[in-house]
Amino acid sequence: MALLNKIISMPDVVIYDDHLIVKGSYDIILHHKMLKDGLVPSDKNVKDTSVFFKTCPFVLSGLGCTLPPRYRSYICNFFLCSEILDNPIYKDKLEPYIRERDNYVCFLEWENKQLIMAMREDGITFAKDFGAAVEFLKNTEINQYDFPKLNPVTIHDDNTIGA
Ligand code: SF4
Repeated sequence: MALLNKIISMPDVVIYDDHLIVKGSYDIILHHKMLKDGLVPSDKNVKDTSVFFKTCPFVLSGLGCTLPPRYRSYICNFFLCSEILDNPIYKDKLEPYIRERDNYVCFLEWENKQLIMAMREDGITFAKDFGAAVEFLKNTEINQYDFPKLNPVTIHDDNTIGA
């Protein structure tokens, strides 16, 4: 609960009935200036270049992500960059991971829908009473995904410093 309290007291938090959003920042002035000057990096995989000028609210300079992995969205936890996905050396080896990621996301979406429906039935919402909603979820049995054991994939690079 301490972490959740910390999250909801961050600036720019919007609490909805069944989820909350913590807004980050977007340097729109710099983005537009760099677009005008033709200095925005081009990447065929990036359709919306505003992403280069946005900052997640949980990242801290010099520390990286300050959100424990279990609280991050699955996009953060299972992101695979195109340099790896498009590399023929790893394509086949990563396929079981990509399939499992898709299965896991389907499971999470289904599980979330069940929890939202259970909250609605009891008239509980985060917006109305955040503490009561958290208490309700704490006392609700939540199914856990049964991850299979996958073969490890080792990816070599020439960098000595990780992300
Ligand atoms: S991993 Fe996700 S939550 Fe953490 S800083 Fe990056 S975008 Fe934000």
